[in-house]
Amino acid sequence: MTHRITLIPGDGIGPEVTAAAVQVVEATGVSVEWIRQEAGLRAIEQGAESPLPAALLESIRSTRVALKGPITTPVGKGFRSVNVALRQKLDLYANVRPSRTLHGIKTPFENVDLTLFRENTEGLYSGMETYDERLEIADATARVTKAGSERIVRFCFEYARKNGHSRVTLVHKANILKVTSGLFLRVGEAIAKDYPEIEFEDRIVDNMCMQLVMYPERYDCLVTTNLFGDILSDLAAGLVGGLGVVAGANVGDDFAVFEAVHGSAPDIAGKGIANPTAVIQSAELMLRHVHEDRAADAVRAALEATFQEGKTLTRDLGGSASTWEFAAVVTEKVRNILD
Ligand code: NAD
Repeated sequence: MTHRITLIPGDGIGPEVTAAAVQVVEATGVSVEWIRQEAGLRAIEQGAESPLPAALLESIRSTRVALKGPITTPVGKGFRSVNVALRQKLDLYANVRPSRTLHGIKTPFENVDLTLFRENTEGLYSGMETYDERLEIADATARVTKAGSERIVRFCFEYARKNGHSRVTLVHKANILKVTSGLFLRVGEAIAKDYPEIEFEDRIVDNMCMQLVMYPERYDCLVTTNLFGDILSDLAAGLVGGLGVVAGANVGDDFAVFEAVHGSAPDIAGKGIANPTAVIQSAELMLRHVHEDRAADAVRAALEATFQEGKTLTRDLGGSASTWEFAAVVTEKVRNILD
């Protein structure tokens, strides 16, 4: 069977790292019809009506699955984040970001295995910001709904149950944000009762940051609201080798978009030195989502073997390999594993 998958190369390092991931997926022998769509500034340059073109949304509504590179968002001005708009328009409410130790990458920790579940459509990302010119006051609305909190917390517990995880930690700031963060915490406490086999606890976000940089091995699944999840997932990436190696999935009831945690990395874009591991690992999650587990296992094993050998590493991990040299080694290993 041929899978129809929307491919969004994005901008910055996006086209380089997604091309590497496509090459690795093709080496698995899984048949994919890639439907390429542009977004962000590249879409505008090519004459699209908006940075998030209707054709792109239509494509994902038809294929139901996308592999996406990062898209630059102008800071403090310009168009709204395409990434946030895409998640909201397709109701991709669960952002799943696993950070796992890859042996062979030098880090201060040995056995980190965290899966972060970030609420992806609400909170301070709701897009409700105002500025009163006369009073010079800026306000942002952090909308937290009971229904939105319930579905992300339940998604986390269901994932934990299905994948044999033993512990869920809910991260909040309910001591100060008693109404918004308080609602998220109350919902979590109620839903936890439906999963008595899974240990449940909560942590205040600032304490969570310290716990994670001191004892990351003690934690398993983390579930939290949008902004805390954004910050904690970069922190978690730092525990296992950095943004170059951490994958992500944006999942809703109908569609799923797979993308790395990292952004468009303008400082290294176009130089051929970006680490494609994060997008390759996102493609691994995508292969599992479309029930190609054998191919996904091969991609994971090939990455693990490459790191264990330690001969071909990109610069962010202390090596000197280019994006393509690294991708070529992983591609070759995938072929050998599946031969
Ligand atoms: P970034 O993740 O792009 O980069 C942070 C640092 O990590 C940089 O030093 C970069 O060189 C390094 N890095 C990131 N990915 C790497 C890789 N694959 N290999 C090696 N090094 C890597 O974060 P930023 O600089 O804060 O953001 C740049 C742009 O990306 C912004 O416009 C931001 O809005 C956007 N962004 C997009 C997404 C997305 O598309 N989902 C996510 C985050 C940021």
